[in-house]
Order: sequence, then structure tokens, then C-alpha cells
Amino acid sequence: MELENLRDLYVHELKDLYSAEKQIISALPKMARAATNRQLSSAFRQHLEQTRKQAKRLEDILRGHDESTRGPKCQGMEGVIKEGDEMISEDAEPEVRDAGLIAAAQRVEHYEMAGYGCARTYAELLGDKKGARLLDTTLREEEATDLKLTKLAKSVINLRAKKAPSAAAKKRREQSKSGGVGKTLKGLVAKVTG
Ligand code: FE
Ligand code: FE
Repeated sequence: MELENLRDLYVHELKDLYSAEKQIISALPKMARAATNRQLSSAFRQHLEQTRKQAKRLEDILRGHDESTRGPKCQGMEGVIKEGDEMISEDAEPEVRDAGLIAAAQRVEHYEMAGYGCARTYAELLGDKKGARLLDTTLREEEATDLKLTKLAKSVINLRAKKAPSAAAKKRREQSKSGGVGKTLKGLVAKVTG
């Protein structure tokens, strides 16, 4: 039996979180590149730095229990990240995509918060004070990131998405509908010479 006691479950959860963090570390640079809004892009980059430290904390806790970080891939996070990937490649107005990227990123944070909350509780029950402290630090970072994203969405990103498509985008679309730049140029020439 692999999960005989709470300690086994604790280690299992730590490995699962580690797999999740590793996947997030490779996803966040793509999210940062896909974001048009500079504040959003830098929020993703800042969280990438934080996430690297969070992965180190898990390494630290697991090492303290003579356990490796190796374990099955966190499939829940794989699915959540896949949805974020789909948002990146969606044919979307930049402002609308930014709002969608926040929605995807908040799913990531909430998934993490659930995992860290459980792991911290197990650490407390098992008397792993250092583990509980480290997991609590990470949990607070995830909560702060979630809050930061909510604020950014409500104050800027969602409002811009509501206004999309921008005037410039509309104009470009109309031009392409009416035959593109060529036709517009011909029209201009006709006006000037006519
Ligand atoms: Fe994290
Ligand atoms: Fe996170």
C-alpha cells in the first residue's frame, strides 16, 4: 500500500504540488509573451520568479523527509494549463485575450491554493513546523497573486476588453473588407487626381 498514513499522503501532495509548480514555470513565460498589457505581462514575470522559489521550498521540505521530488505528473494542473495555452493561440482581440489570460491564470492560482491549504494542514498535524511555515508562505503568495490579478482585471483589463475591438482594429477590418490597402490607396489617388 502506497498511502498507509497521513505522512504518506503529505509526501504525495508535496510531490503533486512540485509537479504543478514545474509545469507553471514552463507556462508562465508563454503567458507573459502572450499578454499585450504591460502590467499583466510583468505580473506574470514577477510570479515566475516567485514560482521558482516555491518549487525550491518544496524541494527543501521533501529533502527534509528524505524524499525525492519525483512523482506522477499533476494532471489537474496539466489540464488547467492546457486551457491557458488554448487562450494564447485563440484568434482574439488583444484586449479580450488579456482578460482571458487572467481568467486562466486565476484558475491556476486557485488550484494551487487548494493544494497548499491541504498540505499545510497535514504539516501542522504531523508536527512538521518548518514545512507548515514554508507552505504557508507559498499559500500567501498565491493568494496575493490571485488578488493582484483580480485588481488588474477589474481596474483595467476587463474594461478594455469591454471596449474591444479598438477603433484601430475596426478600421483595419473595414479596410480588409473593402479590398485592403490597395483599394484604399486607389481611392485616395482618385480623390487627389479627380
Ligand atoms: Fe505556485
Ligand atoms: Fe502561483
